[in-house]
Amino acid sequence: MIHGSLASVESVSWQNLLAGSITDPAVLLRRLELDPTLLAPARAAAADFSLRVPEPYIARMKRGDPNDPLLRQVLPVGEELFDQPGYVIDPLGEQHANAQPGIIHKYAGRLLLIVSAGCAVNCRYCFRRHFPYDDNALSTAEWQQALDYIRQDSSLSEVIYSGGDPLAANDRRLAWLTREIADIPHIRRLRVHTRLPVVIPQRVTSSLIEALCSTRLPVTMVLHCNHANELDADLAKAIQTLRNAGVTLLNQAVLLRGVNDRLEDQLALSEGLGDHGVLPYYLHVLDHVKGAQHFHVNDEQAARLVGRMLTRLPGYLVPRLVREVAGEASKVPLAISPLNG
Ligand code: SF4
Repeated sequence: MIHGSLASVESVSWQNLLAGSITDPAVLLRRLELDPTLLAPARAAAADFSLRVPEPYIARMKRGDPNDPLLRQVLPVGEELFDQPGYVIDPLGEQHANAQPGIIHKYAGRLLLIVSAGCAVNCRYCFRRHFPYDDNALSTAEWQQALDYIRQDSSLSEVIYSGGDPLAANDRRLAWLTREIADIPHIRRLRVHTRLPVVIPQRVTSSLIEALCSTRLPVTMVLHCNHANELDADLAKAIQTLRNAGVTLLNQAVLLRGVNDRLEDQLALSEGLGDHGVLPYYLHVLDHVKGAQHFHVNDEQAARLVGRMLTRLPGYLVPRLVREVAGEASKVPLAISPLNG
């Protein structure tokens, strides 16, 4: 079941990389040779939602550039502390869809399992930055109840591992869960939504492949890559390992002001993903979560951007522009307008 050489990708343990993540803004600013005046606002914003960024992700940032698109996704900034009408704690109403601990059941036919509360990186725009993960850390008995929920609802055909980041869970837990789910006859597919291979590509090990890909269930992994600079050689190897194991690879991104809101950013991201056999699936407009308002791109700009992508790329490399709306039966597509150039 395992193909290809994993030696270089696996040379540093992902657990060590995860444990060694930088959480002190002063250390990050020093490492990147950035202006120390950024420290006070970073500390203030981090008190609300902490800084967390692993070394392999920092290695892809440009030194001395406060506008680096990867840095902007992780560095706490003073704008996060401004109150903005319409930006709320739970923009997607997920705390109502939290059917029972560990389960978010929003859409027909599929549900999310909160496999791990942890993330390898704290993304400043995260719509779950205020999610009550402590209430969703499951005991063994609660895991059984979550599985019973899936067993008892034969309208479900797909289980989605989510979080936090589901790949922050260890492989033993993932292997057990995957076997249990594969034993439920009406479940036909497994999907994994993760940013972990993007920020720590070393997470993709033979043991992970074994844990996810050893049952009858076809596996789709939706990566969360927002910028072409994230696509380095280690991530390319991790992607190849997943593809060799038969995993279908998609990507979802969030449209973020100052990160990926220019046409050239989106073209480079789609082309880069395409080079590695990953199809762009969704481009999400920003969820209006409190603290993320400075990333907002308005709908007109977003529609024009994707319209221009259509004129430059094959259709399969143009992501669907969508918004998630609390209470809707699916993601809501935004109308786009094809333009020249
Ligand atoms: S990895 Fe995903 S869940 Fe975790 S902070 Fe980033 S966007 Fe949120």
